[in-house]
Amino acid sequence: MKIDVLTLFPGMFKGPLDESILKRARESGRLTVSIHNLRDYAHDRHRTVDDRPFGGGPGMLLKPEPIFEAVEGLSGPETRVVLLAPSGRPFNQRAAQELAGCSHLLLICGSYEGVDERVREALVDDEWSIGDYVLTNGALPAMVVIDVVARLIPGVLGDDESAKDESFSRGLLEYPHYTRPAEFRGMKVPEVLLSGHHAEIEKWREQQARRLTRERRPDLTETAD
Ligand code: SAM
Repeated sequence: MKIDVLTLFPGMFKGPLDESILKRARESGRLTVSIHNLRDYAHDRHRTVDDRPFGGGPGMLLKPEPIFEAVEGLSGPETRVVLLAPSGRPFNQRAAQELAGCSHLLLICGSYEGVDERVREALVDDEWSIGDYVLTNGALPAMVVIDVVARLIPGVLGDDESAKDESFSRGLLEYPHYTRPAEFRGMKVPEVLLSGHHAEIEKWREQQARRLTRERRPDLTETAD
């Protein structure tokens, strides 16, 4: 998969893309991420990308011209253009699975008060919010989308099965895990996990996943398998 990112803050992506699973995914060629500075598409002397909102009000908006030029230059027939915005649809595992099926994503990171509305009207296929709060700019939300989507690309996780049985993948939270030692400070691992009885272990995990989801995220149970 190829992901292009349009941002005013390319430096914010350096650490996360150069560590751990994302680093390996890039090195293996399964994931290509290119970060583009929006200012490179502004052509006046000060490389201006923002302006005051018509009608007044606080803050500045990203101007349409640099974003249009960038998106038109970077996209092709397969490109899915994604805007990160608090007013977007809630980004979740299902949305990530859908995006993971695309061959090319172009992520637009907003800044200041956001983007000129004509960007939404003419360029954007999807608009996603990573949660009901406001971040300073779209770099971290874009990074969240990249991370979540990347681990769904076949071959990126060591064991592709691990993404299939995780929290949210079936509309349920994940069951609790334990590792050695079997007893730690008086806290014991549930007997069934030590039994070697696979059917019983599966049954216990399913029950635990349903119990946790009911207790913590009853909203998810409506869509659970
Ligand atoms: N004025 C905007 C509003 O009230 O919806 C907030 C703008 S925010 C300070 C600047 C940029 O950060 C947004 O354009 C968006 O790209 C990004 N952003 C902030 N919070 C976000 C969220 N929860 N999800 C996705 N993107 C977000």
